Amino acid sequence: MRSHYCGDLRKEHIGEDITLCGWVHRRRDHGGVIFLDVRDREGLAQVVFDPDREESFALADSCRNEFVVEIKGTVRSRPEGTINPEMPTGEIEVLGKELVILNKSETPPFQLDEHQNVGEDVRLRNRYIDLRRPEMQEKLRFRSKVTNAIRNYLDDNGFLDIETPILNRATPEGARDYLVPSRVHEGQFFALPQSPQLFKQLLMVSGFDRYYQVAKCFRDEDLRADRQPEFTQIDIETSFMDEEGIMGLTENMIRKLFLELKGVDLGDFPRMPYSEAMQRYGSDKPDLRFPMELIDVADLMAEIEFKVFAGPANDPKCRVTALKVPGGAKLTRKNIDDYTKYVSIYGAKGLAWIKVNEIENGVNGLQSPIIKFLGDEVTMAIMDRLGAENGDIVFFGADKAKIVSEALGALRIKVGEDLEMSEREWAPLWVVDFPMFEETDAGLTALHHPFTAPSCSPEDLKANPLEALSRAYDMVLNGCELGGGSVRIHDQEMQATVLEILGISDEEADDKFGFLLNALQYGAPPHGGLAFGLDRLIMLMTGTESIREVIAFPKTQSASCMMTEAPGEVSAAQLRELNIKLRKTP
Ligand code: ASP
Repeated sequence: MRSHYCGDLRKEHIGEDITLCGWVHRRRDHGGVIFLDVRDREGLAQVVFDPDREESFALADSCRNEFVVEIKGTVRSRPEGTINPEMPTGEIEVLGKELVILNKSETPPFQLDEHQNVGEDVRLRNRYIDLRRPEMQEKLRFRSKVTNAIRNYLDDNGFLDIETPILNRATPEGARDYLVPSRVHEGQFFALPQSPQLFKQLLMVSGFDRYYQVAKCFRDEDLRADRQPEFTQIDIETSFMDEEGIMGLTENMIRKLFLELKGVDLGDFPRMPYSEAMQRYGSDKPDLRFPMELIDVADLMAEIEFKVFAGPANDPKCRVTALKVPGGAKLTRKNIDDYTKYVSIYGAKGLAWIKVNEIENGVNGLQSPIIKFLGDEVTMAIMDRLGAENGDIVFFGADKAKIVSEALGALRIKVGEDLEMSEREWAPLWVVDFPMFEETDAGLTALHHPFTAPSCSPEDLKANPLEALSRAYDMVLNGCELGGGSVRIHDQEMQATVLEILGISDEEADDKFGFLLNALQYGAPPHGGLAFGLDRLIMLMTGTESIREVIAFPKTQSASCMMTEAPGEVSAAQLRELNIKLRKTP
């Protein structure tokens, strides 16, 4: 039907007869002349209808916002003084000659220009209209460009796009599964994939050598702001490559992506061991745009009377650390109270602080409620270690190591953002040398997943599991985990050792993933890979705050779809067929 997209029209089309198809974005009646701004996916064009073409004029006059129209007309330059430099098509307009109303529209629930004043629930309930907005069109187009560039890169590097099943046995990825009842197998359930982890490993056993998939994954977790119950991974697995090879290949992919689509050179990604990231930044995904670091001061506090610090300072499971914020002395009481509330989210019971006003006057130049508890000598020793300067504020954390790292790690970013301390726009890195296991209330669990290879022998692993490091790696950008993966275990003995340490019995292992354990006995090659979170990558690249803004039809925080109202009830007949009886009928 159309000859040109509205948004593509330029000066060089002047004089051409064209056909446009799109939506009426706005109708204006300028004293006898009707202007229609017509919109399609490429943008807006202004079409003018004169009264001397009676029929099309009357039709144009009857158009309302969001009517779908086909317009034949001629491109001409805009009259002197009416050129709009803000619009890409602002130098031209179309003289409308014929107009067909292809479809009418009810008055939309919100004007496309006024979306900011409507709640997100209205936007999500009417997503098909919300998605007409140029910002949303732009984000989804960008997303398509990203997947396209990634596919091209992986294709150029010999990767095969192979689909893996959606209806599966539960995989032990750590989160809760979404379950699907089987009609044919009474009382049995499929699990939706949390990731294609085991299948991609099996594809390596089958000899495909390099696999990728733009894979939908499902995790039934309590949702945080940046999570979705279904999300997309760029899932990658390779054979006969070690961590250097895999990191190099994927780092190159992300660097190329940023260069091609954003004109940004991310440079070489530095590597940082997990222990160093936790020590210096209190996070396994440090945001290196901010220069501040955590500096431990437990040794200086070990002898003081004040239990709040001395207790943790003498407990090996605890951490006592300081965060020096240059320029932070100007923070008000209210700011500090707000930060105290903020760290309490992470379990911190308080937030001690010292303001540095005139360091040349020793403790007299400091301002703080805690100096009297620390004593002058300890206070000055801390200031010395931190290299405190006038205008600084120092925050302290003293508690279980996990609480202190998380609380002060998060505070570091929050204060950094509030005081605009970011030193660069993009800060990528690899975090490496993760521990194999972590201790939880339920015993030892795998930090990555149970198929990740340790960097030691099975004997050493068994002897000292909590000391063992894994061959896992995370790619981090601006404090976000973009992707993570590992070299896998390809040896049956090692796999059995890891499962044993995790307290997974042979029976349970056989029941859950016996097929993988069997496959490892039939010539499994050394292999490894990783997965990138596509939604988060797009968020970062487009500077979007909410994950819902980069997904066409997202779920809400309570894991439902406001438009289709999924999940929903099903009929009694369907339940009967599945042999499911609800404990409580809704
Ligand atoms: N399957 C892992 C995940 O979803 C990624 C990987 O190890 O490749 O986190």
